Amino acid sequence: MTMKNNESYTGKVAFVTGGASGIGRATALAFAREGASVVVADISEQGNQETARTIEELGGRAIAVKCDVTRTEDVKAALDKTVEAFGRLDFAFNNAGIEPRKAAPTAEYEEEEWNRIIDINLRGVFLCMKHQIPLILKQGGGAIVNTSSGAGIIGIKGSPAYTAAKHGAIGLTKAAALDYAAQNIRVNVVCPGYIDTPMMGRFTGGTDEGRAKVIAEEPVGRMGKPEEIAEAVIWLCSDAAAFMIGHAMVIDGGQTVQ
Ligand code: NDP
Repeated sequence: MTMKNNESYTGKVAFVTGGASGIGRATALAFAREGASVVVADISEQGNQETARTIEELGGRAIAVKCDVTRTEDVKAALDKTVEAFGRLDFAFNNAGIEPRKAAPTAEYEEEEWNRIIDINLRGVFLCMKHQIPLILKQGGGAIVNTSSGAGIIGIKGSPAYTAAKHGAIGLTKAAALDYAAQNIRVNVVCPGYIDTPMMGRFTGGTDEGRAKVIAEEPVGRMGKPEEIAEAVIWLCSDAAAFMIGHAMVIDGGQTVQ
């Protein structure tokens, strides 16, 4: 990875949730490559530290902060550490999320599983934005990207909670985008298709058969790479996307094209 000196990012600070793994890790690395200092915020302490260490080994600046996005005190403490370490916040990628443990039709869906998924995949995004926005406003603006899914665009049979949470992430993004457009914070959301990450490994059971089933749903004939989502996030946060507000950007190999 060659480190760049990108005007949109040099001297700026990015906060990435779910940065210990998959899409979040690839995006944390991409922010660092562009010249931003990165806060890797994830519930997984070990993965967090691995991402931050990799960034430092490549010549970037990063700190790892353990943060459960469903806990207000964790989110606030992680943002306090951000300001302590780097003095400001410019960008946030609110990406931490979980997959359902099993599929079930709506009437048979367990309430506990509903709560778990909505809590992390939707309320977590709200809590992060709630506490990030005042910091971003302090220094005159910035950009936030949230993570939705193909399940934010179409319904997924047997997955009411994940579908609702990911549709909700798009709605929440649009509301926040309107709230802060005039104050120079751009809020957008990415909708990845099937991406080859540890989450996808759990989803497919890691078998060739499981992977083939998923790939069969991708018109492009393969899964996406975490870096292909990271590049979209980098563009959305850059000055090149200055007129893009409240957009749900689909990067999915054609999965949801109808
Ligand atoms: P990964 O499981 O690889 O990474 C997600 C990270 O989030 C993990 O490190 C996980 O920690 C962490 N995490 C889980 N719960 C919390 C929490 N409460 N607070 C903070 N961190 C938490 O997943 P992906 O990279 O694949 O997914 C990232 C996002 O992209 C998710 O929102 C997912 O829904 C979305 N997405 C993924 C797709 C895919 O095909 N991979 C497709 C569409 C959307 P731990 O491992 O310890 O649980």
